[in-house]
Amino acid sequence: MAPPLDSLLDVVAARIIAAADELTALDSAIGDADHGLNMKRGFEAVLAERAAILAKPLGEALKTVGMTLVMKVGGASGPLYGTLFMTLGKELPEDPAVADLARALHGAIDALKARGKADFDNKTMLDVLGPVATHLGGGGASFASVRALAAERAQATVPMKAIKGRASFLGDRSIGHMDPGARSSQIMIEAVCDVLEGRA
Ligand code: ADP
Ligand code: MG
Repeated sequence: MAPPLDSLLDVVAARIIAAADELTALDSAIGDADHGLNMKRGFEAVLAERAAILAKPLGEALKTVGMTLVMKVGGASGPLYGTLFMTLGKELPEDPAVADLARALHGAIDALKARGKADFDNKTMLDVLGPVATHLGGGGASFASVRALAAERAQATVPMKAIKGRASFLGDRSIGHMDPGARSSQIMIEAVCDVLEGRA
């Protein structure tokens, strides 16, 4: 059965929009206080194109989501999340199994790393996305284990020192705060788990 793209789109967008203030507060501690606004603007633009997106097959739909985020999200996170969704759209088959998702996510992470010239442990969204992709590829992942891992990895960015993005300008003062992009990635992963498990 193909994934329920309509619910995935609606729930991911709704959760990100609802978390705008929280994400902006995180970004005000170690950035320029716009991550929540950026993401909200991006996902409102995605919802504005909802009908056109849902008329497309999964791959094309995800590419459109990615292109919309690139165009509408200001800041570093727009091109980065845009690259993530566009690559997922390119790599995922119409009816993906967990192994397909793991492979596509690894491909998207490689593209994201190249785009942002970043790596793991730089205190970015990659520190949530990477471990989740590896976990999915390892076999035996459950919705609960994916949710727990994403939350744990977002929390694990707190003691990290930022090496990439605006937060890196703060040097050691970036330590002690959760990375906003890690938190937005966690929120999206949790939303996807909730929809696929039938909880949302
Ligand atoms: P900006 O930093 O331009 O204000 P946002 O505030 O929307 O953009 O996004 C900040 C988030 O983007 C960070 O919390 C981090 O997770 C992510 N990020 C920033 N630079 C990079 C990079 N080079 N590679 C991966 N992620 C990055
Ligand atoms: Mg910012």
